[in-house]
Amino acid sequence: MFKKILIANRGEIACRIIKTARRMGITTVAVFSDADRNALHVEMADEAVRIGAALVAESYLKGDRLIEAALASGADAIHPGYGFLSENPDFVEAVEAAGLTFIGPSVQAIRAMGLKDAAKTLMEKAKVPVVPGYHGEAQELVVLAGKANEIGFPVLIKARAGGGGKGMRLVHDAKDFAEALSAAKREGKASFGDDRVLVEKFIPSPRHIEIQVFGDDHGNAIHLFERDCSLQRRHQKVIEEAPAPGMHEEMRQAMGEAAVKAAKAIGYSGAGTIEFIVDGTDGLQPNRFYFMEMNTRLQVEHPVTEMITGLDLVEWQLRVAAGEVLPLKQEDVSIDGWAFEARVYAEDSQKGFLPATGTLSHLRFPEQFVRVDSGVREGDTITPFYDPMIAKLVVHGPDRATALGRMEAALAQTEIVGVTTNIAFLEALCRQADFARGDVDTGLIDRNLEQLNTRELTPDLFIAVAAIASLKPGRFSGSQDPFDTLGIWSHWAAPKRVVHLASGEDFHELAVTRLSRTQWSVTAYRDVGSTLAPVFMELLSSANDVMRVDINGTLLNIRYLRDRQTLTLICQGKAYAFALPDISTADMEAEDMGDRIVAPMPGVIKQINVKVGQSVSRDMPLAIMEAMKMEMTLAAPRDGVIAEVLVAEGDQVTDGDLLLSLEPVEE
Ligand code: ADP
Ligand code: ADP
Ligand code: MG
Repeated sequence: MFKKILIANRGEIACRIIKTARRMGITTVAVFSDADRNALHVEMADEAVRIGAALVAESYLKGDRLIEAALASGADAIHPGYGFLSENPDFVEAVEAAGLTFIGPSVQAIRAMGLKDAAKTLMEKAKVPVVPGYHGEAQELVVLAGKANEIGFPVLIKARAGGGGKGMRLVHDAKDFAEALSAAKREGKASFGDDRVLVEKFIPSPRHIEIQVFGDDHGNAIHLFERDCSLQRRHQKVIEEAPAPGMHEEMRQAMGEAAVKAAKAIGYSGAGTIEFIVDGTDGLQPNRFYFMEMNTRLQVEHPVTEMITGLDLVEWQLRVAAGEVLPLKQEDVSIDGWAFEARVYAEDSQKGFLPATGTLSHLRFPEQFVRVDSGVREGDTITPFYDPMIAKLVVHGPDRATALGRMEAALAQTEIVGVTTNIAFLEALCRQADFARGDVDTGLIDRNLEQLNTRELTPDLFIAVAAIASLKPGRFSGSQDPFDTLGIWSHWAAPKRVVHLASGEDFHELAVTRLSRTQWSVTAYRDVGSTLAPVFMELLSSANDVMRVDINGTLLNIRYLRDRQTLTLICQGKAYAFALPDISTADMEAEDMGDRIVAPMPGVIKQINVKVGQSVSRDMPLAIMEAMKMEMTLAAPRDGVIAEVLVAEGDQVTDGDLLLSLEPVEE
């Protein structure tokens, strides 16, 4: 076995590999770019080597620097992780030429699967079913258009060197073929420097089911069952699961055998994935799955396979690369229960899944019933340089429903502040009816996008708590705790502050009134469209960022997390995010100290103590109001003379109503 390995990657996968290497007693060398100097994978590794600037082209894609770093640190082997150089045959050749072991398949195997047309021809020869289509030499329009007619529309034109969904064009009608062909060729040329294409039958609403395979250098190859990755957005996987819903033994055996045949056809060694497209319109049928491509590396979603088999695929990769025989035979592996993986990303699902950046000012993952593969810690920054994945949440359960329930709970209990994430979107997906039933296909997310992006309105109660929590400590006195601040808040009258909050599209201008030491009310202040109904609550305590409130006899513990411009409340596994627009509250404070006495909430005037023309001194009780079954005293905000009394005893008033006013102060 290797003594020391270099991990030519970053983020969660680098951390994931380090964990297994450490367990196996192998020393690890991390590499980092300037943007990753303080990254988790650097901290976790035994050693770390700087390889260049932040841009991947200057660091993680610099094969020569990676090899130099491996040689300089005395590593025996390089693990490429996924992405970056993991499927680059030139890199593998250079690694081997330097006398190092590449932890992955041979150069020949990577080359054989590198181009979609050659791979398909190879698979046809090996009697692995491929999507009906043309993947020959000819590239002339007349030939390809003729083939498209033979295949039958709709067809898919794919750049043979394509990846990540690029260089692909769907054509529904013969008249559009020529234009789509030039577009696919242009994109293939621009992205991969290769304009050759293939044409294949487009399978409507297919499922993406892939088989994990493993081979060794002694001619053995087995499969570790399937993963269903049909939940995709723009050909990117979102939630993966194993086994596949609706899978039955006959189908599994057929797909498993085809995958092993594919691996054996190229003498495959190490971990690989055979991606199949499955026409699932009439359930899973053994004559309706087709080879799509092979990924000659560890897959992002490999943990779901680990969860159902109890195996460590990175350990297997290391053993096989070190020349060992596969640890188990086909008949020794079996499936236990069900597993899901959700990819938690820094992205805004409401804004076209735009990648988000920012600092993770607060980051908590649940600890029970979930495996968290992450490469970041609280305080780390999601930069524009790399994939904005924050973590993979992986759950397991005895059956699909239990596992899915655990996923939903794990997502609900994940607390991330500082960066916009897709967590709410993933939660909505977990609750989506077709997915919950196991009725999945690659179009599910697009068909339900609007529903998946619909957010429940934030309940008034949390808007009110947010308004209180938004009051900055120390703003009204020197105290650090906004709720125990004496001074104006301890006043026996009813001091009030105006707070501005945005919750999604809704903007609120709210009046927060401290009615007594523990009692607070929050009402919509000016009529700016806030539909908040008055909320009255008792704030029992607030310590360690947790407010304990009593609302109509219900006790709630609400965690609040403040960030310069945002406030997040977390309660009973749900997060509520608010933006705090930087609007000065000066006008309200001036008003408080000023001329007007306004009803802080709806209620009835019980008593009026003053008349027009009467001199009053600051804090003198002017009127008593009854609201929410309690009395509150309205006090004079300053010394002065009463100018107007606009209400009488017994009047019903609503919040914001002007009750009394003072003569303006002469300058
Ligand atoms: P998977 O099926 O494992 O998700 P993908 O093809 O989506 O496979 O890629 C796996 C990871 O590698 C993704 O995080 C993706 O962003 C990254 N990746 C894919 N292609 C490249 C590339 N050419 N360069 C860098 N990273 C890549
Ligand atoms: P890439 O190399 O870009 O990942 P793939 O050939 O693996 O390209 O296809 C990516 C995705 O496109 C698949 O996961 C599937 O959703 C869709 N797709 C590919 N081929 C077909 C097809 N023949 N019919 C329908 N959808 C397809
Ligand atoms: Mg693919």
